[in-house]
Amino acid sequence: MIYQRVALIGLGLIASSMFWGIKRQGLAGEVRGFARSEATRETARRIGLCDVVCDSAIEAVTDADLVVLAVPVGAMGAVAAEIAPHLKPGATVTDVGSVKQDVIDTVGPHLPEGVDFVAGHPLAGTEHSGPESGFAELFDNRWCLLVPVEGAAPKAVADLRALWEGLGSNVEEMEAEHHDLVLAVTSHTPHLIAYTMVGVADDLRRVTDSEVIKYSAAGFRDFTRIAASDPTMWRDVFMTNKEATLEILGRFTEELFALQRAIRTGDGDHLHDYFTRTRAIRRGIIEAGQDTDAPDFGRGASR
Ligand code: NAP
Repeated sequence: MIYQRVALIGLGLIASSMFWGIKRQGLAGEVRGFARSEATRETARRIGLCDVVCDSAIEAVTDADLVVLAVPVGAMGAVAAEIAPHLKPGATVTDVGSVKQDVIDTVGPHLPEGVDFVAGHPLAGTEHSGPESGFAELFDNRWCLLVPVEGAAPKAVADLRALWEGLGSNVEEMEAEHHDLVLAVTSHTPHLIAYTMVGVADDLRRVTDSEVIKYSAAGFRDFTRIAASDPTMWRDVFMTNKEATLEILGRFTEELFALQRAIRTGDGDHLHDYFTRTRAIRRGIIEAGQDTDAPDFGRGASR
């Protein structure tokens, strides 16, 4: 057991997966949870999500050794302000937000002396959200990036690392700014591109008489899966990781224009070389164990 008492604030995909994972390995004595809506709290009680479901965030964090902020990035600051006066001295606060610098800037100033803040981001997820979408295996063999905030005690970082390792993850520490750039490339910009492609197809649907949906082929289907992700979460990601996303989008647009020109001028060599290079990246991801080459990417029908 790493922590006596853990508090999960927000009870969606990530928090519920953490709860089932904590139970799987016995990583904490007691897990308390809080979600802002009565409906989510009731669902949590019905499915046995958390040992205790509290009716306030303050009740949930009281006496907790670890507090996990698992709400959309744009909501982290307000939650931190509410709970800060009620944190136990010596407690650790962490988060699971997809953007790190903004969370550190908005949460950090609220936290009192004697509380360690170690920001975090599990690189694991699905397009589903809510208290019923979680499962214990979500973090198995996935990365979890930790961003210890200046002054955080080494023991607080070590304990949080042990928790994520217990949840099945490989843990690495990273600077916030670097994290946000890496994620802009690997996650945030690809999501924006998927949203755009599905939006374009939706516009075209009107002129193609629903054929886009009926004959939906693998490429487009994968985009729709990504573009089904939670609108609030992704709005907040782009509102808070502005600079890095705009930087990567700029580069993306330049490459897209180069490919567009190659198509227009019939430069097949350019296209072939480009696609050969990108194919190697896919092979690298599979070799690194971060995806499978099964036709459905090993995700199965239910996730
Ligand atoms: P989720 O399933 O949509 O759950 C979000 C939770 O936050 C819900 O319990 C919701 O409460 C609560 N919430 C929403 N808006 C709030 C607000 N304004 N104030 C207080 N609570 C609020 O979300 P999730 O996928 O678990 O994501 C949680 C965090 O993990 C986000 O910061 C996200 O960036 C990060 N993350 C997500 C993924 C992913 O793929 N999904 C991966 C890695 C990290 P109600 O249920 O009561 O509405």
